[in-house]
Amino acid sequence: MSMANKKSALLLSVAAVVVSVTSGWIFQSMHEDEPIVSGAGVTARRMLSEFEGNLKGSPGDTPVFEIGSDKAGGTITILGGTHPQEIAGMMAAVLLVENARATQGKLVVVPQSNRSGFTHTDPMEAYLHSYEVDTPGGKRWFRVGMRLANPVHQWPDPDIFIHYPSREGMVGHETRNLNRNHPGKKEGWLVGRVSYALTQLAKTSSLIFDLHEAQPEYPVINKLVSHENAFEVSATAQAMLQSRRIPMGLEKSPKNLHGLSHREFGDHAKALAILAESANPAMGRFRGRTSEELVVGGKDANYVRAAQLGRLFVRFDEQGWPLNVRVARHLAAIEEVINAYNELNPDKPVIIENMPKYRDVVEKGLGPFLKPPPKA
Ligand SMILES: [Zn+2]
Repeated sequence: MSMANKKSALLLSVAAVVVSVTSGWIFQSMHEDEPIVSGAGVTARRMLSEFEGNLKGSPGDTPVFEIGSDKAGGTITILGGTHPQEIAGMMAAVLLVENARATQGKLVVVPQSNRSGFTHTDPMEAYLHSYEVDTPGGKRWFRVGMRLANPVHQWPDPDIFIHYPSREGMVGHETRNLNRNHPGKKEGWLVGRVSYALTQLAKTSSLIFDLHEAQPEYPVINKLVSHENAFEVSATAQAMLQSRRIPMGLEKSPKNLHGLSHREFGDHAKALAILAESANPAMGRFRGRTSEELVVGGKDANYVRAAQLGRLFVRFDEQGWPLNVRVARHLAAIEEVINAYNELNPDKPVIIENMPKYRDVVEKGLGPFLKPPPKA
């Protein structure tokens, strides 16, 4: 071996060590849990595996926060993180966990419904792994995940995913999409089991509300999608949001599209089932660089242009759609859905106090409503 060859062999070995150490570090850091702090209103913190034992110890098991009261009433369940890159849903859930209190009935919050999806990002999309929010007590960090569960946890995908029990055929990777798996399956693949456990949770709920986001070029945006069993509640909530100048569309859950929370929790768990979507430009095809500025700030020059060309389903100007505005919309929707539910179910209401208000979250951002970072 010549001297030059020896030198390049050595350099290559060093490079290989650097790459494996860094990728090992990235892999490990993707499996570190971000802190979610129980606020004063949290009366119990369980794991989802308490609703379906065979999830215990699996990467699909996830915390379930209960905000209970001494007075009997209904139970309202909020799901965030069904799709872990739709971060406004998870952050709205976190703000409830860290602030809300119940004086009657119970609020149940699952901030990371597809927890496996929080351990990776979409390949080839150059996503951030995490982002930070300034709070009065210091910086908090949160994850950007991916729509699908991590293939490290569930693999391989079939060519065609056959939904259970409808037997509707879908593209193979949807087998890792939690919001195509409902009502789930007790035995079998991980995401099916997570869904099954959430369906058991839905069976203990009067109403279940699943928080999502979508790209600004997608037609179902700033909308509620409602099972027919929840249409009175969602239409009342929509009217109230309209009167507060927080426009929100309303769509009926299609009867023949399966696996979706707003269809299957209504059909199989008999809970009133609603889903909400806000506009997230970091998920869209027109976006520029996927920076923290875009993920948290929600600003993107390409989307301003797309709006001027009439290509979007929401307004999009230089203000963009910042994360706190999207979270505020979810919180306002939750507040009005609870109000409407209480009006229509006066015998078993759910009375919640100290939810961060829409106007405050828009004006002050998320920081003032987050606990200080836990001490290591
Ligand atoms: Zn979604």
